[in-house]
Amino acid sequence: MIQVEGLTKQYGAVQALHGISFDVPRGEILGFLGPNGAGKTTTMRILTGYMPPSAGTVTIDGMDVFDDSMAVRRIVGYMPETVPLYTEMTVQDYLDFMAAIRRVSGRRAAVERVIEACAIGDVRDRIIGRLSKGYRQRVGLAQALVHDPQVLVLDEPTIGLDPRQILGVRELIKSLGGERTIILSSHILPEISQVCDRVMIMHRGRIVAEDTTEGLTERLQGGMRVRIQIAKTREDTVPRIAAVAGVASVESGEDGQFDVVCEPGQDVRAGLAALAVGQGWGLLELRVASLSLEEIFIQLTTDEAPVEAEPEPTVAAE
Ligand code: ATP
Repeated sequence: MIQVEGLTKQYGAVQALHGISFDVPRGEILGFLGPNGAGKTTTMRILTGYMPPSAGTVTIDGMDVFDDSMAVRRIVGYMPETVPLYTEMTVQDYLDFMAAIRRVSGRRAAVERVIEACAIGDVRDRIIGRLSKGYRQRVGLAQALVHDPQVLVLDEPTIGLDPRQILGVRELIKSLGGERTIILSSHILPEISQVCDRVMIMHRGRIVAEDTTEGLTERLQGGMRVRIQIAKTREDTVPRIAAVAGVASVESGEDGQFDVVCEPGQDVRAGLAALAVGQGWGLLELRVASLSLEEIFIQLTTDEAPVEAEPEPTVAAE
């Protein structure tokens, strides 16, 4: 449904996107995850035709976002990070106006449908400028939906909402999936894994990892990794570690270090400590070395080298 090819964006001296490419099949909910400044908003603005790229192409349902911008806008709903709402209008009048400028047929019914879907019936006659942040956010979502778009692009849709409203908006987004293709951005990991089918982690204008939500969950639920370091290694050290109950695999490193992967749900630290002490190996260190999703995310999005010096973007990094 969406094809992105070699997208680059240069803001003066700042290169916000470094030639990213990805596809989104029809009906998928894709999550963009990344720290501030990763390029999520820039990508979304280009995808929705609100800003041209410096290079690269985007096609939606076979149409080029720039050559066919009017046609594309008819099938795309966009909720920017800060929705430019008309603060003097009432909620209902604003939605009716948005439906009119998008030439929605059956406007009244369309407005009723989104008022109900976004649970904003109790504020429909209120002036937008006087609404709470949560309600404004939902009005922003309602305007993105009023023309019943096939593609929805939502920039940080739950930011500033209270926990109950967050749950409501997540449920709403999930219920909109299926027929629609949805891209949403967030820097909240659980949100992405609860709502999305696939996740793309962005950092400094590059895609540093992408995986299905199941893949990420597997990484989270995979066996614990334990690192043990001993003073005296012997020939039988590896087989003895491997024989400890709950150990799935062992890899030996330098300086008497061994990385041990546990069977799912098993914690082998007590067994390893007993073995090392019993064998007189001289236990120097024993610690959990597993990577949680948070740690994977932090590792992928923490710079140690200047980005310009990096080679091609790493995809599906562990
Ligand atoms: P956030 O979570 O903070 O919204 P983001 O992932 O959406 O971050 P972008 O807003 O796309 O990131 O910004 C990517 C980079 O481009 C950042 O370095 C940002 O400072 C820069 N940038 C964004 N918009 C402009 C602009 N209009 N002019 C100059 N630089 C910009």
